[in-house]
Formats: sequence, C-alpha cells, structure tokens
Amino acid sequence: MSIDGQPQGPLMVVANLELCQGHARCEDLCPQVFSTDAVEGKVVIVHPVFPPELEDKVRLAVRNCPEGALRIARQKAAGA
Ligand code: SF4
Repeated sequence: MSIDGQPQGPLMVVANLELCQGHARCEDLCPQVFSTDAVEGKVVIVHPVFPPELEDKVRLAVRNCPEGALRIARQKAAGA
C-alpha cells in the first residue's frame, strides 16, 4: 500500500530498444533477468516483473547501462 492509500503493483523493468547498443552489461550484472539477442544484438528482458530478492541487482544493472536504455516502473495493481 502506498502513502496515498492506493495499492501498489510489483516492480518491473523495461528497455528502450532504440537506445540499447547490446553491450550486455545488464546481462553480466543480472543474468536472471537480462539476456542478449544474438542476432539483433539487443537486450532481451527474460523476467520483466522480477522478484523482490533481485531488486538490488536489477537496479545495479539499470544504473550501469551506458545508454540509459533501462528503467524501472511499477506495474499497475489489479483494479487500480
Ligand atoms: S547494458 Fe544497456 S545498452 Fe547494454 S545491452 Fe543492456 S540495456 Fe542494452
């Protein structure tokens, strides 16, 4: 539950594929969530809605993306 009383959905990570240059730094830092498409050379998010125990690693990957192609968002809670 958030401060304003609205239910909160789980965190998710999203990628801007126009910015992604396929460094695979995100995959190195958190292979449970990120992979790289061998043909396109772009990030593939294997688990967009990641479990809470991976939040620190996902945030580290987001901070270390040289292109700023990753961001964390919150999924809308059901009925919100
Ligand atoms: S680190 Fe950023 S630019 Fe590199 S593959 Fe991951 S999302 Fe793409």
